[in-house]
Amino acid sequence: MLDALVIGAGPSGSRTAWNLAQAGYSTALIEEHERVGEPCQCAGLITPRTFDYLGYKRPILQEMNGARLWGPNDSFLDFQASETKALVIDRPDLDRSIANKAVEAGADLREGHRYLSHRRSEKGITATIQSKNGKIELETRLLIGSDGPASRVARDAGLSSKREVLAAFGADVEGYQGKDNHVDIFVGSELAPRFFGWGIPTGLNEGRIGMATVLPNRPKNFFRDYFHKGAPSKLLGGAKIVNRVSGLIPFGMRDPSYADNVLLTGDAAGMAKPTSGGGIYSGLISADAAFEVADKAFQKGTLDSKTLSPYQSLLKQRIGGELSKGYHLRRAFLSLTDDQLSEIISILGEPKVKEAIEKTGDLDYASLAAFSVLKAQPKLIKFAPLLLKPFI
Ligand SMILES: Cc1cc2nc3c(=O)[nH]c(=O)nc-3n(C[C@H](O)[C@H](O)[C@H](O)COP(=O)(O)OP(=O)(O)OC[C@H]3O[C@@H](n4cnc5c(N)ncnc54)[C@H](O)[C@@H]3O)c2cc1C
Repeated sequence: MLDALVIGAGPSGSRTAWNLAQAGYSTALIEEHERVGEPCQCAGLITPRTFDYLGYKRPILQEMNGARLWGPNDSFLDFQASETKALVIDRPDLDRSIANKAVEAGADLREGHRYLSHRRSEKGITATIQSKNGKIELETRLLIGSDGPASRVARDAGLSSKREVLAAFGADVEGYQGKDNHVDIFVGSELAPRFFGWGIPTGLNEGRIGMATVLPNRPKNFFRDYFHKGAPSKLLGGAKIVNRVSGLIPFGMRDPSYADNVLLTGDAAGMAKPTSGGGIYSGLISADAAFEVADKAFQKGTLDSKTLSPYQSLLKQRIGGELSKGYHLRRAFLSLTDDQLSEIISILGEPKVKEAIEKTGDLDYASLAAFSVLKAQPKLIKFAPLLLKPFI
């Protein structure tokens, strides 16, 4: 019988398995794809803080210290910070590196294995896994659902809840005329309704372009338009797609994210930030919290939901506040018309407001910039008075 069975070798699952194996618990890490990290479903943008948190670094393709914001009615802003705000990385490499750490610590990584279902057993949980050679059953004391946005573990454990899910579509392109060390962001109902589009330079004339939106809008159709109309087309004249990327981004922390003998981490637990859609950093935070609670529960000798319940408080304490401010910001953003968006972009260009963003802009903690922007220009509150109230 295993101590822990982790489903999904994304960043949050591998980090959890790494922690558990390092602490001496017998741990299996199950990944449905043949190779961890593939196919890639990410733009690969993280903060330098993420490497600090992880405890080691991986190769960086570009350091980002600026952003260009392209909005409705030809509104435009170019931000230039004095420090590195984000890093462009090779996401499959990151995923593999964390899974390798788990394996080095003693976890049993099984690629090409898909979790199908689980049932409760006398001593814990029996999970049914599909392997190339047929179905197998694994007995475990603790099941960890790190299986991403469409988590089956969450569903089977009765932890599914209604939440907003964005669909994203993008590509690696050759011939992208971005600006080195600058992220391009596209907003407005024509280009990216209800979220935003992005362009990230990755090398000489190369970049990652994409957009996310809320269904029934189809991200693929908007993405196709990027080559023909509006601000993105200016940067994509003659560009060629070399690799497509798509995926889902769920918003809304699952509460609870635990059940008898079950914990959820990362996207399965709703860790993606509603402001940027990023979920690597917050997923790692949830992985460490899951490990801490599991470790105590193992030592106590019981893994019932009551014993695992401190997990929710840890999530709330460590990242919940920022996620909840992010929902407020997202709702405020959703309430804006295109004309209001372009008006806001022109206000953000006022020197003191721009300076506030350049100083405090932070992908992981967007609420810091929101707060400093409202402080620098309180008239912005008129755009969503009730929703922006938590920031003043
Ligand atoms: C297009 C796009 C761009 C993004 N860009 C960024 C970005 O730039 N920066 C950022 O921080 N975040 C980004 N995100 C979000 C980020 O990718 C996720 O938040 C992050 O991957 C969550 O990590 P995770 O470990 O929880 O889940 P995942 O990384 O989704 O890993 C889940 C793993 O579980 C496996 N799995 C699923 N079901 C099963 C099963 N039944 N059996 C076995 N294995 C299973 C999957 O194959 C996968 O490997 C982006 C998302 C999308 C869709």
